[in-house]
Amino acid sequence: MASPKAKKNTTRAAVRPQRQLKRSSSSAPTNRHRDALVVLLDLTRKLADQTTLELALSSVTDATIEIIGADHASIRLLDASHSELLNGARSGAGATRRPMTFRKGQGVLGWVVEYKEPIVIDDTRTDPRFVSHNAQGFSVVSLIAEPLWSAGAVIGVLSGSSPKARAFGPDDQLLMRLLANCSTPPIERARLRRLALTDDLTLAFNQRYLSPRYNEEIERAKRTGQPLSVLMLDLDHFKTVNDRFGHDAGDVALRLFADRVRSLVRRVDIFIRRGGEEFLIVMPATTNAQARATAERIRASLADCHLDLGGGSRVRQTVSIGVATWDCNEVPEALLRRADVALYQSKEQGRDRVSVSPPPNAP
Ligand code: GH3
Ligand code: MG
Ligand code: MG
Repeated sequence: MASPKAKKNTTRAAVRPQRQLKRSSSSAPTNRHRDALVVLLDLTRKLADQTTLELALSSVTDATIEIIGADHASIRLLDASHSELLNGARSGAGATRRPMTFRKGQGVLGWVVEYKEPIVIDDTRTDPRFVSHNAQGFSVVSLIAEPLWSAGAVIGVLSGSSPKARAFGPDDQLLMRLLANCSTPPIERARLRRLALTDDLTLAFNQRYLSPRYNEEIERAKRTGQPLSVLMLDLDHFKTVNDRFGHDAGDVALRLFADRVRSLVRRVDIFIRRGGEEFLIVMPATTNAQARATAERIRASLADCHLDLGGGSRVRQTVSIGVATWDCNEVPEALLRRADVALYQSKEQGRDRVSVSPPPNAP
C-alpha cells in the first residue's frame, strides 16, 4: 500500500477514492466492473417496467451514485423550448435542497448541453465554467457529466459529483456513457407517456390521468391499510385576474400557482388540474391531520405573497381548499364528493380558507 505521502505523486486512477459500491472484502479491481454490471442490470430491469418519469429518473441517479461512487448525482432534461435545464431527479448529498437552475450554456451542465460533449473536471475550484452556490448544501469539487442523446439531439444531462478532487477517471466516463445510453430510451418513453397525461400550461397531470391513478391509490390504501387523503383546490375570484390583467397574465398566475403547490407537496403526491382554475391533490399514506397541515401551508403560502405576472403586474391570489380522508369503506367517487363539499364550504365562508370534511358517518 502506498503511504499517503507517496499517493500525492501517483496517477489519477491510483488516487481514486473508495467507491460506495458494496464489495466483498477480497475485492480485486475487476470486481468493481462486475459490481457496476449488477447495478446496471438492476437498473435496466427497473426501466423496462412501465414506470413513471419521476421513478425512472430517480432510479438512474441512484444507480449513478452506486456505480461511479459519486456523492451526488442529478439528471436534468431540457424544457420544450430547449433552453432551460429542468430538474429531473437528484440523489445523494443535498438532494432535498432546492435545486439550482441552469440555462443552456450556463455553468458546467449548461456547457455540456451547449457543446454536446461529456466532461470530467478534476477540481471545480480552478474551472471558470463552474458556478458555485453556497445554498446547494453540499460540496462539489470533482464533477463528471454526460449528455443524453435521443434521435440525434441532446435532450439533457446526467452528472455526478464528489467533494474530493480527482475523484473520477476514464473508467467512470465509460460507465457514465453506458448509464446515459441505456437510460435515455426508457426515459424518453416515460416522458412521452407523461406528456399525453400532462396539462401543457401548468405541467400538472390532466383529468385523463385521474381516474386510473386514483383508483389505483384507493386499491393500494385498501391493501396496505394506510390512510389516503385528497385536497380539492379552487382559486378565488380568478375571473377578476383575467378581467384586470388579461388572459395571458391569468395563464402566468396559473403556472406560478402550480409551481408553488409542487414545491409544497411530496413527490408521491399526485397533483392534477381538473380544469380551469380547479385542482386536486391525491395524497397517499396521509392522515387527515397531515393533509390539513399541507392544505394550510399551501393556503398561507399564497396569501402571504403577491404573484408576479410580468410587465409590472402583481396580484395577491388566494385559494380555497377542501380536505377529505378516505374512510376505508366509501366508494372512490364519494371521497371526491366530500372534498368538493368541503371546498364549497370554504367558498361560502369567505374564501382563502381550508375546510375539512367530517367522516361520512359522523353525527
Ligand atoms: P370563485 O372564487 O367563486 O371560484 O370565483 P372565480 O372567479 O375563480 O370562479 P369562476 O368559475 O367564475 O371563474 C373561473 C375563471 O377561470 C374564468 C375563466 O376564464 C378562468 N380560467 C379558466 N381556465 C383558464 C385558463 O387556462 N387560463 C386563464 N387565463 N383563465 C382561465
Ligand atoms: Mg375559482
Ligand atoms: Mg372554479
